[in-house]
Amino acid sequence: MVMPNTNKQHVVDKEVNAALAPFILQSLPIGIAIFDKELKTINANPIAAELIDLRANTDSSLAAGTNEKIWGDWHKTLSEVVEIGKIHRFDNVAYRKIDKQSVLQITCAPLTDGLNDVIQGGLLLLEDITEKANAQKQMANTERLAAMGKLASKVAHELNNPIDGIMRYINLAKRTISEANLPKPVEYLEHAGDGLKRMVQIITKLLEFSRNRYSSLEDTPIDKLIDDAVKFIEPAAKALSVEIERQYPSALPTVKGGNLFQVFCNLLKNAVEAMPDGGKVTISWDISEDNVAMIKFRDTGPGFDPANSEAIFEPFFTTKTGKGTGLGLAICRDIIEKYRGKITAQNFPASGGIFTVHLPLNKK
Ligand code: ADP
Repeated sequence: MVMPNTNKQHVVDKEVNAALAPFILQSLPIGIAIFDKELKTINANPIAAELIDLRANTDSSLAAGTNEKIWGDWHKTLSEVVEIGKIHRFDNVAYRKIDKQSVLQITCAPLTDGLNDVIQGGLLLLEDITEKANAQKQMANTERLAAMGKLASKVAHELNNPIDGIMRYINLAKRTISEANLPKPVEYLEHAGDGLKRMVQIITKLLEFSRNRYSSLEDTPIDKLIDDAVKFIEPAAKALSVEIERQYPSALPTVKGGNLFQVFCNLLKNAVEAMPDGGKVTISWDISEDNVAMIKFRDTGPGFDPANSEAIFEPFFTTKTGKGTGLGLAICRDIIEKYRGKITAQNFPASGGIFTVHLPLNKK
């Protein structure tokens, strides 16, 4: 029986490994940069070159795109790697290269010769985790909003009763004072009453929102939700001579949940309110190639000031002095994001606003 020559095998493997090493470095799906004991960059693969601003020294390459107040002294970190073999791992490192901001996971590890573990230099392993970090951020945001929604509903319930009481006393005081023919105090009380009315509007909106949030999880055709919203808004529209036209090429698919009803009501209500002297709202839709329904609400009102195109989605931004809460679009956006969609606003060139709900549909 011939025993394998393990020594020879080891030598052959070493030769094969040495020949393959450059290819391995180039083909690995993560960024790798190699540095010597003086921290000089001696090699890097294309992904590393894409992710960081490679400089002559590896500590400068890292420092070039990171905030030194947050990430401290890269020279000290990498020196610890090559001097005492300490491995450092950093999650969620914000790195800016020219105009591109990414989130990296960076591991700094010693590079040994494999035989007697003598440290020859160090390795940087770089992984682009921007998408994962964004998804985590979004998840945290969603949870925070859900918690805020619950809290808002509790606070709103608690506030309703005392506000009701204050309103009643204001009205009583107004009546008594006006009987005594004192116009100024009546005016003051009217101002106080207006402030309270605005508080009631905000509370009503918050309650509407929190009640609706987790309601129906049934599959409902989107066009049915739009139809219901149209029926709901039609009396107010008719009172202002606003016509609502639906241009549906065919039935829309179903989605889970009735929260979208509230979105459509808000968009229709805003469109109607933008046309106090009458006009037309047109609802139409289209499905993109990547299966996203784009539902458009177009009105013939004056549109919005383009300088406010972002601000209109912020909570409490309103141009309807005394009448608006500024919560409608903020709530719409929050609900639509739950469906992994988005809402966009633009002005129609001639006149009028177009609000588009982009809604990813379930794959068939
Ligand atoms: P509110 O209706 O209570 O003001 P929203 O968040 O629904 O709150 O809307 C915020 C602002 O966006 C409105 O005050 C208005 O300035 C603008 N806006 C919304 N919809 C339209 C529209 N269809 N046309 C013009 N401006 C609009």
